[in-house]
Amino acid sequence: MPSEDAPLAYLSKHKLRLMVYCRDCQRSAQVDHAPLIKKYGPHYPIPRLTHHLKCTGCGKRNATVFW
Ligand SMILES: [Zn+2]
Repeated sequence: MPSEDAPLAYLSKHKLRLMVYCRDCQRSAQVDHAPLIKKYGPHYPIPRLTHHLKCTGCGKRNATVFW
């Protein structure tokens, strides 16, 4: 079970895919974790990415992530 504050390294370690879901327009997208690890580091908590991710559909930062 993924923990609430799993770090980005968790995704690469278990070869999991990160999904981002926009709560405004219900758009969902699969995000490649490799560039995220490069940018924020392997210890960055996955749920905190929601502060950085901008929806490609509506441009809002109202996303939720799951994996
Ligand atoms: Zn959206």
